[in-house]
Amino acid sequence: MLERILEHNRKFVQERKNAGKDKPISGHAHKDIMVFTCMDTRLIELLEPAMGFGRGDIKILKNAGNIIRNNCSDVIRSVAVGTVLMGLKEVYVVGHSDCGMRKQNVEDIKAKMAERGIPADAIEAIDIKEWFGLLQDETENVKDAVLKLKNSPYIPKDVKIHGLLIDPNSGEISVIA
Ligand SMILES: [Zn+2]
Repeated sequence: MLERILEHNRKFVQERKNAGKDKPISGHAHKDIMVFTCMDTRLIELLEPAMGFGRGDIKILKNAGNIIRNNCSDVIRSVAVGTVLMGLKEVYVVGHSDCGMRKQNVEDIKAKMAERGIPADAIEAIDIKEWFGLLQDETENVKDAVLKLKNSPYIPKDVKIHGLLIDPNSGEISVIA
């Protein structure tokens, strides 16, 4: 696969250069917005155009299930970088219906981990549901993330925080928080 990627990349770079599209643009989010969403493949080339954003417009942050786990500050860290250090004014948590993180169950995960050679003591050392961030409900998960951002002392109080849900097929967005 790597060879194919590199071959494609050589053509891609040449075509961008020929079209004059290789000029530097600012790394700052032009619209002063950050989006936190799921790593679901169906959101690629769907979520940004569905919200009216293009290259250079927003900072985008993804993880499995757009989850902010308890006692895990890494998402908060990135949102703090975006808002405190970069001055972004709005954060949108965008969940999606039919999320893979709602369909997993603890016993299956334990079996898959063992099958893939994860040591038994490492499996036993974690609360699978909490560690993987398994969801009960996509809407509740977005509300939870919005609440955690609003309650975090590291996110400035003048930052607007919204919660949305997107349909991964139609691209339709609904406001939930
Ligand atoms: Zn998802």
